[in-house]
Amino acid sequence: MMTARYTRQLPLIGNEGQARLSRATVGIVGAGGLGSPVATYLTLAGVGTLILADDDTVQESNLNRQFLHPTRNVGVSKIRSATQTLTELNPDVTIRSFPERITSETVNRFAEHADILVDATDNFEVRYLLNLIALKMGIPLIHGAVEGFSGQMTTILPGITPCLSCLFPHPPPLRETPIIGATAGVIGSLQAMEVIKYLTGSGRLLSGRLLIWDGLAGRTEYLTVSVRPGCTVCSSTHVEK
Ligand SMILES: [Zn+2]
Repeated sequence: MMTARYTRQLPLIGNEGQARLSRATVGIVGAGGLGSPVATYLTLAGVGTLILADDDTVQESNLNRQFLHPTRNVGVSKIRSATQTLTELNPDVTIRSFPERITSETVNRFAEHADILVDATDNFEVRYLLNLIALKMGIPLIHGAVEGFSGQMTTILPGITPCLSCLFPHPPPLRETPIIGATAGVIGSLQAMEVIKYLTGSGRLLSGRLLIWDGLAGRTEYLTVSVRPGCTVCSSTHVEK
C-alpha cells in the first residue's frame, strides 16, 4: 500500500476505517454513466475488491459521460476497459470482472461474495433482481438513476427500509433517455459516498429517504419513504437480523 495515497482521508475515517475499506467487497452492476464515478471513487478510496458486472462494449455515444472508457477503447468490452482504467488509478484494488448479463441465473454468482451492492444500471429488470438478492442476503443496495439533468438515489437496508419494489412497483417503459454526463457524475458520486459511509460507519445513510436531485433548478429534495403495504417482494423475503 502506498503510504501517502490515503493521507487526505485518514483524518476523516481513521486507520480502522481505511482497513474496513480495504477488507470490503463491493458489487457494482453497470460500468457506464453511474458506474464510472462509483467505481472510480471507490477505487481511489482504497476499497479492497470491486466486482464489476457489464456485458456491453464501449460505444462512441457512451463517451459524453462514461469516463472509465477512453476514446481508444471504443469497441472494447466495458469490463476490460474499466479494469484497465481502474487498475492504473489504484493498483492496490482488486477488480473482479463479471462480463455477463445479470439474470435470475447469474445474479447469485455475481453477488455471493459482496458486502454491499450498487445499482448503476439503467435497466429495471436488473434492478429488481438486485433488490431480491440484496433482500435474500441481507446486504445494502445503493440505488441510483438518472435522466437528463436530474436523478435520484436511496439506500435500501433489508428489513429496515422499504425495498426497491415498495418504491417503484412497476418498471417505467424501457427507452433511451438523453443525459448530461455531469448528472451521472452527481448521482454516482453520491452512491460512492453512501458505500464509503456504510463501510466505515460514518455519518447518516440515505436510508428511508429518497433523494431527488434537479440539476436544472439547482434543487435537492428528500422524500421520506416507507414500506408499501402489500409489497409482495419484501413481505415474502424476510431477513433474519
Ligand atoms: Zn417492498
